[in-house]
Amino acid sequence: MSKTVKTALQNPLDKYPKPPFEKQPQQVPGLASKMNPQPDHGEKTYKGAGRLSGRKALITGGDSGIGRAAAIAYAREGADVAINYLPQEQSDADEVIALIEAEGRKGYAIPGDITNESFCRELVEQAVQKLGGLDILVNNAGHQQAVESLLDLTSEGFDATIKTNIYAPFWITKAALAHLAAGAVIIATSSVQAYDPSENLFDYAQTKAANVAFVKSLAKQLGPKGIRVNGVAPGPVWTPLQVSGGQPQDKIVEFGEATPLGRPGQPAELASIFVQLADPEASYATGQIYGAAGGSGHP
Ligand code: NAD
Ligand code: MG
Repeated sequence: MSKTVKTALQNPLDKYPKPPFEKQPQQVPGLASKMNPQPDHGEKTYKGAGRLSGRKALITGGDSGIGRAAAIAYAREGADVAINYLPQEQSDADEVIALIEAEGRKGYAIPGDITNESFCRELVEQAVQKLGGLDILVNNAGHQQAVESLLDLTSEGFDATIKTNIYAPFWITKAALAHLAAGAVIIATSSVQAYDPSENLFDYAQTKAANVAFVKSLAKQLGPKGIRVNGVAPGPVWTPLQVSGGQPQDKIVEFGEATPLGRPGQPAELASIFVQLADPEASYATGQIYGAAGGSGHP
């Protein structure tokens, strides 16, 4: 009989900071290191169990937020990890690479703007070359700017959201396909916004619905090749995306309050979902969207 280790029962209500939060505007894309309170990406807590031993992962937006939590967890589960981010985020990215290397895994930083098609192809080529292959692709980077009225939403703003959230995953996935063998996985980060859009996230919500359709369509296309495609739909999560214009600052003060748990999620609370979807044990999960929204929202 195996030995049972007892851990204290933990109340999710008290586990992390609750609103009110301080207003804390940052320029897009924002830095996790400048947030107050500091987000928890699992730096001190995530424990691996070899679930992704030997895997090679590329995570976009892996410098901060949800992507960083996935990067830390993947490394602790035994994967080598390449991360993409914008050059302005180098200091956040450096911290992630150090955390990956502290696990004895390989970590590769590949900065660049994924709204550029040729960079997206280069990103995949560089990741494949550095990692020596690719079997987990996480299309997680995202752009979100709240705009109160449709009349104030510019074509440039609309374009930035669509390019980052819809075109980039298309370009990156298309380039990656040549390298993905049976058993590989693709994971998208969608949002509750796909299912219950806010009035001030008109463009963003549409892209997150597109991410759901990306998962559902591509899972059917790639199922016969043995490649699984799934997505995660987070609710409010404490990340730079939100404080750098994703929400108006008065909404940051009460961020997460409306959920049944009464607080925003922390990136660390989503890491195990990204691990689960990449884990070969989840071999019958494809075309699925896993929610993590603190008790409200869909799916
Ligand atoms: P985040 O700011 O930590 O991560 C987003 C990342 O996207 C940035 O770190 C940046 O590196 C990357 N990015 C943005 N534009 C880019 C570009 N042009 N080129 C390259 N990289 C670019 O915030 P996050 O909340 O962890 O966001 C991760 C994903 O989660 C996004 O797809 C977002 O839409 C989604 N999401 C977030 C929430 C939330 O409440 N935080 C809720 C639902 C969904
Ligand atoms: Mg970032």
